[in-house]
Amino acid sequence: MGKVSQEAKRAKMQASNERVVEARRKAAVYDGDLTRAREGYHVGAGWHAILDDLVKEFAEIENLGFLAAHEKSGGLRVSYLYDGDRQTDIDAIEKRAAARALVACWYCGQLGKLRQERWWRVRCEEHWSAE
Ligand SMILES: [Zn+2]
Repeated sequence: MGKVSQEAKRAKMQASNERVVEARRKAAVYDGDLTRAREGYHVGAGWHAILDDLVKEFAEIENLGFLAAHEKSGGLRVSYLYDGDRQTDIDAIEKRAAARALVACWYCGQLGKLRQERWWRVRCEEHWSAE
């Protein structure tokens, strides 16, 4: 491959990278706007109140953008954009939310337990028996 085409390829890759970063920045919620943030809640309704609180706390940290929330191995996982020096504060907010989700039923938000039946999940007694 010639030098020119390699450079062209690199420039193209960089441009596409920047587009991805820009798209993520646009999708991120920096101001605690719950209507927009909720579009990124890929978890049961029982966890939405926990995430609402997290998004509001995130809004108090400058340049911190909430992206989405998922469940992994029964626990809450949050993704966000941040490039600053308050990582410890963010970790603490995230840890608090994850701890709350660990005892909140994914469906209804009532007191729940993490258990493994086929895979790890958090459910209240009622929703454990409904599944
Ligand atoms: Zn429940």
